[in-house]
Amino acid sequence: MNLIEVDNVSFAYTEGIPVLKNVTFSLNSGSVAIIGQNGSGKTTLVKLLKALLKPNTGDIFIKGVNTKETTAAKLAKTVGLVFQNPNDQIFKNKVLDEVMFGPLNIGQSVEEARENAIRALETVSLVDKKEENPYDLSLSERKLVSIASILSMNTDIVIFDEPTIAQDWWGKTKIKNIVRDLVDCGKLIITITHDMDFVGECFQRVIVLSRGELLLDGPTREVFSKEDVLRTAYLEPPYVTQLCRAIGYGGVFLSAEEFVKYYESSLPNS
Ligand code: ADP
Repeated sequence: MNLIEVDNVSFAYTEGIPVLKNVTFSLNSGSVAIIGQNGSGKTTLVKLLKALLKPNTGDIFIKGVNTKETTAAKLAKTVGLVFQNPNDQIFKNKVLDEVMFGPLNIGQSVEEARENAIRALETVSLVDKKEENPYDLSLSERKLVSIASILSMNTDIVIFDEPTIAQDWWGKTKIKNIVRDLVDCGKLIITITHDMDFVGECFQRVIVLSRGELLLDGPTREVFSKEDVLRTAYLEPPYVTQLCRAIGYGGVFLSAEEFVKYYESSLPNS
């Protein structure tokens, strides 16, 4: 059984104006980026995965449960969603209370919730700020609090909505490490993002939406090798991929680190 099964799903907010058209894919563990230009249907797809919306035709199964037969509240134990803007997610005035809210909400005891919250705060390196007001923290730190609030529920699926937006280098580095650690723990990590460098560095699989249709779905390197197809969806591969190609390297490099390793190993005395 796949963790997520999206089977021939179509959806329209307004009859006759389809936003998603016959989308089919399945997901298990690993990291998956959903990319596409604005309006291509990414957010709608995530809302369908959270059962906040239900398909007009087709079905979505989360761990075998049809989203038409469940609710977002019931799915909270399985699917966690980190909002794009932490200010839309955070509502408590103490970091620990904020991070304990999710576990308490899905029925954990106070001790269990506290333990899970502390562990999640350790993961994002903010355990020393647990007594502080989230609004006294920097935006990067608030983002990490909002991530910890989801990690504390220990869901099998974690969805990030544009996690690198408005993040400084420190915040981005932290988020990249969190994504890699979650993947190592066997979770399914999904992100919606416009940040192709982030996709190249952290995500194993890419799903490209274009005007509500699934245009490409495959391993990241393969998807970013199809520049011509990406261009039809107004997308470009990561900068490093483009740069390496422009200066004559044949392969598809997904990160600067990958290219530097390749380059050093190709030097005569290496
Ligand atoms: P993306 O996340 O890729 O930018 P969205 O899923 O937000 O795409 O939007 C896809 C299409 O659905 C857009 O044309 C958008 O205007 C429309 N849309 C999004 N939300 C609503 C809504 N609540 N009511 C009506 N139309 C919507």
